[in-house]
Amino acid sequence: MQIYRGIELLGGIDPDCNVYLIDGELLVDAGTGIYFGGMKKEIGQLCDIKNIKLLVNTHCHFDHTGGNKKFQDWLKLSIAAHTGDKKAVETGNGSMAELFGQKSRIMTVNKALRAGAFIKTTNFVFEVMQTPGHTPGSICLYEKNKRILISGDTLFENTVGRTDLPGGDRGQLINSLKALSELQIEYLLPGHGSPKKGGVDFLIKQMINFSSESKKI
Ligand SMILES: [Zn+2]
Repeated sequence: MQIYRGIELLGGIDPDCNVYLIDGELLVDAGTGIYFGGMKKEIGQLCDIKNIKLLVNTHCHFDHTGGNKKFQDWLKLSIAAHTGDKKAVETGNGSMAELFGQKSRIMTVNKALRAGAFIKTTNFVFEVMQTPGHTPGSICLYEKNKRILISGDTLFENTVGRTDLPGGDRGQLINSLKALSELQIEYLLPGHGSPKKGGVDFLIKQMINFSSESKKI
């Protein structure tokens, strides 16, 4: 489903995360790999697969990274993840694969990302924002000119990512949300659930309050 000119949200099946294909050149997240066959078919219909050079993981969890190895083998692309989650992506330790009744595959992250790095495609320039809280190396990708935020499991259309798993930290999540509240965001493209257009500033403020309140309980 096209959600913005040049950005496709692949038709994922639970428990896969949202997988985004951007300009037919960049993939954001890989899903569990369980439904890789269907994803492969869909991607093949959407673009010339030779142009897909990079897959960025928003964080290390298995529902976002389980399919990495299959994409690497199929497209010979590079995998990128933030330095804070790189090891968990590579070894599977901390990927929570067991929550999905699966085992992680050992694989190599080709590019370690840091905050402030840029990821470019023909029509988009995404800045890597480090937004720890859900995991230490969680990132969001921000397209300043188009006001698009790809938020991984940091922020969803009406809630935030859980912070009770290993490496999670509610205080960090609140700080990450505060950093996001400084941005101009029109389109929210989350790691699960529906994308959201408009009202993102309000949502972030609500989530900062909600997360801060729950901390007191
Ligand atoms: Zn997650």
